[in-house]
Amino acid sequence: MKRGTELELTLEKFADRGKSLAKLDGYVVFVTGGVPGDRMRVQVRKKKKKYAEAVMLELLDPSPLRTAPRCRYFGTCGGCKWQHVDYAAQLDAKRESVVGAFLRAGAFEAMPEVQPTLGAEQIYFYRNKMEFSFSAERWLTPDEIASDQSFDKSFALGLHVPGNFSKVLDLHECHLQSELSVRLVNGMRALAQTHGWQPWHVRQHVGYLRHFVIRQSAHLPEVMVNLVTNGHDEDRIAAVADWLQTDFPQVTTFINTINTGVAQTAYGEAMHTVFGPGVIHDQIGGLTFEIAPNAFFQTNTRQAERLYEVTRDFADLKPDDLLYDLYCGAGTISLFVAPHVRHVVGVELVEEAIANANANAAANGITNVTFRSGDMLKLFTPAFIREHGRPDVLLVDPPRAGMHPKVVRQIADLRPERLVYVSCNPQSQARDLADLADHYRLDAIQPVDLFPHTHHIENVVRLTAHV
Ligand code: SAH
Repeated sequence: MKRGTELELTLEKFADRGKSLAKLDGYVVFVTGGVPGDRMRVQVRKKKKKYAEAVMLELLDPSPLRTAPRCRYFGTCGGCKWQHVDYAAQLDAKRESVVGAFLRAGAFEAMPEVQPTLGAEQIYFYRNKMEFSFSAERWLTPDEIASDQSFDKSFALGLHVPGNFSKVLDLHECHLQSELSVRLVNGMRALAQTHGWQPWHVRQHVGYLRHFVIRQSAHLPEVMVNLVTNGHDEDRIAAVADWLQTDFPQVTTFINTINTGVAQTAYGEAMHTVFGPGVIHDQIGGLTFEIAPNAFFQTNTRQAERLYEVTRDFADLKPDDLLYDLYCGAGTISLFVAPHVRHVVGVELVEEAIANANANAAANGITNVTFRSGDMLKLFTPAFIREHGRPDVLLVDPPRAGMHPKVVRQIADLRPERLVYVSCNPQSQARDLADLADHYRLDAIQPVDLFPHTHHIENVVRLTAHV
């Protein structure tokens, strides 16, 4: 077998990152775009000692787990890699990935059954935030190339294609946010093209339009549009504001972020509120949260509520509990559980998020919470415990990389009775928890799906300290 070799194979199971794999005499072949059960002809694109990566050339016998993808950009766009997989099979695959992560980490003597993934009711149009990019280099889909239409390849507004940092698909359809979001994207593109405004050129660092971020409340009639531009141009921004107010009265606030740097990000060195209050609000569990343009807020509001319910139930809260919510963001979980305990102490790196957390507590009339901003590594010390008291319950929800080993050691030393670990990356979660295996028993593992049609999964684990 070498690069370019064609093979016929049957895919056996899902692998990491949304791929599937087949085994040929024990040798593993990873295929993008397949589904376990598919019989297909593939071509090897990468050959390594232990495995190869291949792409599908022809589907010979489709798997019963297949379903028809909805979107015309499926297969090219990086947004949804699993639209062709039946939703129940997606949930099974996510559960399997959690099982695999914990088996590989292998530290716990007894492992509870990983619960079936808690699926979403709404599997399309579920995101409350989408970040679209402008680009002076448009990526064409195979269908666009095959058509006899000609395309202006110097302007695109949409999403990046996987593995390509400069080229963007010009999206006229998307099933992740609301139908309003697509209309905004199409309207913005038309406006920019009418005026001849230039999109950002990633490699030449020229052009005006950079990102178009839409945030929409799941429960309240509030929509934020954040246009990220290279420099401030008052006339153009006035024209965009005018267009929004005329064609999209649903948009309640419009932000212009200025990013003149080379980094490909929707953050920038300055931010202006052009109209409206500069924030929107959304609700989780009867609480109302204020969301600033740069604030972190779970992107699937309805499933975030499921996630927080599992977290709360796993924590088995008692009215007299002192609870720590570590990596607390804008204090959403802290405030969600606060009514059930004596006091909550939240810790978060980003100062603005802590300001949001305090404002959210005040707005919801919650007083039994204390928020501290700082790096967990520096803040979470014996002195911190002396100041705030020994917690009965610890909730942790770190970023993808997981916790610093010293933070894990500090948890082992502190050994609160109950520990609930929420994670968007079961690999780092299982690794962190393996270091606690001497001190804790694994009680329950519950994956929750916040991101249908992607391989991403949120996983909640409950542990109890050995007595
Ligand atoms: N629980 C929150 C946010 C979780 S996201 C929610 O559900 O909304 C993880 C959070 O960890 C982010 O807000 C990030 O800013 C924070 N974080 C990352 N590294 C950190 C560190 N070293 N110390 C403290 N917080 C950190």
